[in-house]
Amino acid sequence: MKIDFSALEEDVVNILENPEYDNHPAREVLGRLWEMNLNQWNRVERITRLSDSYQDMMMQREKSLSARFDKHLRQLEKITRISDHYQRILKQMNSELEQTALMDPLTELPNRRMMMKRLSHEFEPNSQHKVYCVAMVDVDHFKLINDQHGHQIGDDVLVALGQLMSNIVAEDVHIGRWGGEEFLVLLPGKDQGESQSLMEQMRIAIEQLALNFGDKQLTTSVSIGISQYRQGDTVDSLLTRADDALYVAKSLGRNQISLD
Ligand code: GH3
Ligand code: MG
Ligand code: MG
Repeated sequence: MKIDFSALEEDVVNILENPEYDNHPAREVLGRLWEMNLNQWNRVERITRLSDSYQDMMMQREKSLSARFDKHLRQLEKITRISDHYQRILKQMNSELEQTALMDPLTELPNRRMMMKRLSHEFEPNSQHKVYCVAMVDVDHFKLINDQHGHQIGDDVLVALGQLMSNIVAEDVHIGRWGGEEFLVLLPGKDQGESQSLMEQMRIAIEQLALNFGDKQLTTSVSIGISQYRQGDTVDSLLTRADDALYVAKSLGRNQISLD
């Protein structure tokens, strides 16, 4: 059965307010019951209000937590993006630095460090070349070029010689600037005869090269010492024999090749 509370309330209020029932024995009991009823309603209302505000509070808390979480997530994503970006830049800088550290800035050829690295690699136990030659190339009377035409032209001559030599050789032959006006040529897989004919080609090309600087034209030549790997050789002993052969080529009159 459904109770009509507002009609019941109205009936009770009517009885309590009617002076006719003032002395009725049930009036005082009804009055107390009514009082109790009002107190109960007040309590229910208070509890409902508390529960509503608690729910509001929890929702707010949840919202702010998820907003904070989203914010942190976005910050984290941003930091990751920045760090990826910097890592790429660092990687590029590293490889550029490595390149610079192994390259001669004037001729843009591999420098002495790079050539030592390559040559040392050939001395490792798993190296595949049975024969191996190195050639030390030194410009003849280079000091005279500097003295007569100036250091800048001297530099340009070194660049031109580096380019000419690089153009002559195939990819498996490596040319580097050993220092000053000296170049080192690594000839993997070539015996002394093959190395000699390739280096002779280079010597002739250099001898025939006419270098023009404004109205000045100059020619130059190189002396070359070649050494071939022998059982028990070290990087040093191989290079020393090439140097000794170069010394012989110089002392025999320059613009020639000497073998170790
Ligand atoms: P040789 O035929 O006996 O080799 O005589 P050389 O004059 O070539 O030899 P020397 O060792 O007496 O002189 C080499 C000169 O090379 C001395 C040095 O000033 C010059 N030189 C070294 N490095 C450079 C460079 O990077 N640029 C220029 N322009 N000159 C350089
Ligand atoms: Mg020299
Ligand atoms: Mg020289």
